[in-house]
Amino acid sequence: MGVSFSFAKIWESLVVGKQDRKIVMVGLDAAGKTTLLYKLKLGEVVTTIPTIGFNVETVEYKNIRLTVWDIGGQDKIRKLWRHYYLGTHGVMFVVDSSDRDRIEDAREELWKMMKEEEMREAVLLVFANKQDLPNAMAAEEVSEKLGLHALRNSQWRTQSTCATSGDGIHEGLDWFSRALASKR
Ligand code: GDP
Ligand code: MG
Repeated sequence: MGVSFSFAKIWESLVVGKQDRKIVMVGLDAAGKTTLLYKLKLGEVVTTIPTIGFNVETVEYKNIRLTVWDIGGQDKIRKLWRHYYLGTHGVMFVVDSSDRDRIEDAREELWKMMKEEEMREAVLLVFANKQDLPNAMAAEEVSEKLGLHALRNSQWRTQSTCATSGDGIHEGLDWFSRALASKR
């Protein structure tokens, strides 16, 4: 109850004004996106499987629309992501911090996405998720392995989280909403 109330306050800070807010949440499969999405308590999650066969979760709250999907894999599908990127204000990129084998894949996918013209201005929040697992990389290491310091996007932050317990989500979201609001 307390948690969902404070999240509502953060989301409300984003709906001030009439402007639509388009947010995407992406990351490799099993990073923890769906778990996070439900923890955000933005609203009812709608899952759609477009004809081509990639799974998209969408949740809307007033004029905020958040779209979630697994990034990576086939180039054929990659072209369709543009539709969701278009007009994006903010990106939440979720990483399994314990998955050292795939952090390089995550970096490649993140960079491909942030290089898209549509993403030039987007605010980037990285969730260094699964901090509860042994051997999880700390936020600093995740930032470094993703090469965030070299990204041209001015506003980014890495937030340590444990999506299953909810730890860190509030802090990340608080920063995200402030960063988005400052772009208004
Ligand atoms: P998605 O593919 O990115 O949507 O990942 P999911 O949200 O489906 O999560 C994949 C698996 O990781 C599930 O079994 C989750 O319960 C688990 N998981 C997600 N977040 C965490 C976390 O912070 N810690 C741990 N230990 N497991 C997590
Ligand atoms: Mg999922």
